[in-house]
Amino acid sequence: ERIGYAIVGLGHLSLEEILPALNTCKKSRLAALVSGSPDKLKKVAEQYGVKPESCYSYENYDQIKNNPEVDVIYIVLPNGLHKEYVIRGAKTGKHILCEKPMANTAAECREMIAACTTAGVKLMVAYRIQYQPHNRKIRDMLKQKVLGETKYIQATNGQASANPDHWRHKKALAGGGALPDIGLYCINTNRFILGQEPTEVFAYQYSTPGNPLFAEVEEMVSWQMKFPNGIIANCVTNYDSHDNKDYGVFCEKGWLKLDNAYAYTGQDLKKSHAEGKEKIIENIVLAATDQFAVEMDHFSDCIINNKRPFSTGEEGLQDHIIMEAIYESARTGRPVKIPANADASLFH
Ligand code: NAD
Repeated sequence: ERIGYAIVGLGHLSLEEILPALNTCKKSRLAALVSGSPDKLKKVAEQYGVKPESCYSYENYDQIKNNPEVDVIYIVLPNGLHKEYVIRGAKTGKHILCEKPMANTAAECREMIAACTTAGVKLMVAYRIQYQPHNRKIRDMLKQKVLGETKYIQATNGQASANPDHWRHKKALAGGGALPDIGLYCINTNRFILGQEPTEVFAYQYSTPGNPLFAEVEEMVSWQMKFPNGIIANCVTNYDSHDNKDYGVFCEKGWLKLDNAYAYTGQDLKKSHAEGKEKIIENIVLAATDQFAVEMDHFSDCIINNKRPFSTGEEGLQDHIIMEAIYESARTGRPVKIPANADASLFH
C-alpha cells in the first residue's frame, strides 16, 4: 500500500526536492498537483505522469475531497498561505502535511490544529531535520550522555538573499525574515536534540538601514534559549551573510559539531573527547538519506498504522510561541519566559 500525496504549490521546494523524492519513496506516491499556473501544472503533470483529472487550481482545490487516490495534502506554499490551505484541506477529510514554518503566528497554528482535530485528520509539520540521520545520532548520543552532561549549544543559520520582491521579504506572506525561515531550524533542532523545552529567551535584532531586502522583514536575530539544568543555546540567524548552517553541542567530556546541519545534504559530524592528555577528534560517518523521502514515508507509515506523527502541529505551534517570545525580547530588551507547555508530551 502506498499513500497518495497531493502537492500544493509548485515552487522551488516542490519541483527540486519533493517531487523527485516521491519517486524514491517506499510508502508514498504522487497522486495530484495543485498550482495557480495552468501551463506549469500541465508540464509537471506530464513529467510525473499525473492524470489531468488529478490536477487542481487554487479555486477548485476543495474538490480533492472527491479524489479517492489522494490520502495526504502537502502544503508547500508561502508561509502566509499555510493557514488557509491547511484549513480548507482538512475540510476535504484528507490528512495534512504542512511545510515549515507552520504559519505566520501562533494564533494561526491554533486554528489549524483545531481544524484538523475537528475534521479527524492527522497534521504533521515538515521538520525534515528530525528525520535526518546525523541529527538523530546526536539526539541519541545526548540522551545516552555519551559525553556526560550537556552544557551549552552554539547554533547558526545564515544565508544571502538577493531579491527584495520575493515573498520571503514580504511580511504578509513570510510572517518575518531570517527568524521564521531559517532561524527556526536552530530553535527546532535544539529542542529536538535536547528533548527539552526552553524556559526563557533573550534576543537582539538588527536590519541594515536602507537595505530594500529588509524594508518589511528582519535581517538578523541573535538569541539565547535557556533550557532546564542550566543548558544555554546561543543562536544567530542572518539573511545577508555567506551560507553557514552549523551547530556544536558542548558537554562535560567532549563536543559534537555538525556542519551543514540544516542543509539538504553534506552533513559533516565530528566528535571530540579526551584520552589522557590527548584530545581526539573523530569523524562520525553515516549513510546519507533523502530527507524528504524519509519524512514523507514517516507520515505515510503513521497513516497506514494509525500512529501520531513525530513532528506534530502542536510542535509547530511551540516554535511559533518561542519565536514570538524572541521578537518580544528583542523589542523590549528583556528576557521573556516561555510558559510550560501542557502538550510537550506530544513532541518529546
Ligand atoms: P517558492 O517561492 O519557490 O514557491 C512558492 C510557490 O507558491 C510558487 O510556485 C508560487 O507560484 C506559489 N504561490 C501561490 N500563491 C502565491 C502568492 N500569493 N505569492 C507568492 N507565491 C505564491 O517557495 P519555496 O521555497 O518552494 O517555499 C514554499 C514553502 O516551503 C515555504 O513555506 C517554505 O518555508 C518551505 N520550505 C521548506 C524547506 C525545507 O527544507 N523544509 C525548504 C524551502 C522552503
